[in-house]
Amino acid sequence: MSYCVNCGVELDASAKECPLCGTPVLNPREIRKENVETPFPKEKAQVEEIRSKDFGWLVTMVSLATAVTCGLLNRFAFPGRPWSLAVIGACVTFWVFLIPVVIFRKWSPFLYILLDGTAVIWYLYLIARMVERFEWFYELGIPIALWVTFLAEVFAVAVMKLPRSILARALYFFTVMGILCVGIELAIDSYAQVPRRLGWSAVVLTVCAIIDIAIVTTLSQRKLRNELKRRLHF
Ligand SMILES: [Zn+2]
Repeated sequence: MSYCVNCGVELDASAKECPLCGTPVLNPREIRKENVETPFPKEKAQVEEIRSKDFGWLVTMVSLATAVTCGLLNRFAFPGRPWSLAVIGACVTFWVFLIPVVIFRKWSPFLYILLDGTAVIWYLYLIARMVERFEWFYELGIPIALWVTFLAEVFAVAVMKLPRSILARALYFFTVMGILCVGIELAIDSYAQVPRRLGWSAVVLTVCAIIDIAIVTTLSQRKLRNELKRRLHF
């Protein structure tokens, strides 16, 4: 039995070089037996990766099948209210959310967000058509969807253009969440035709502001930052 002179790993009799560090094996006392079966397989075997196109195709087929079958069921088996619009809308929205990320990976994230926002507004419109009521769609659905899309774009800009550490990202996230909640509450007040006043969103905003102050303090103190990195392993 011999051992690698470099790393000390135990060597098989057939080894011409160390399997761990690649150091050549030369043992003048031991004549290497030729044609000895090596303990390692000669061919590299690897599990084939799933191609993203195949996955995209699967998602497309499942979405399409669900939408078409529900449409047919609604038309022939359970006619009356157009309930299948909700399912068809959900399938299309799901597809729009997933496909660009899986297939068109080189697109700009801003474009994904814009597409997602458009898909959500279109889905809300389908629901409004289904229940035949449009006030909530125009006064609540569209403003909130646009607000979320806009803030998602702002968040994407911050993540891509500003410092990218986990703490910095958490700072952008909590800032955006606080502002998002304020906008949603104002939109709800406006829709309910009550005076615009901050209630629950003020609480969320306060909590987010406290978290933000903690993050900014941590970011500005090098020792504190390093201690946190050490404890949380990032
Ligand atoms: Zn070695």
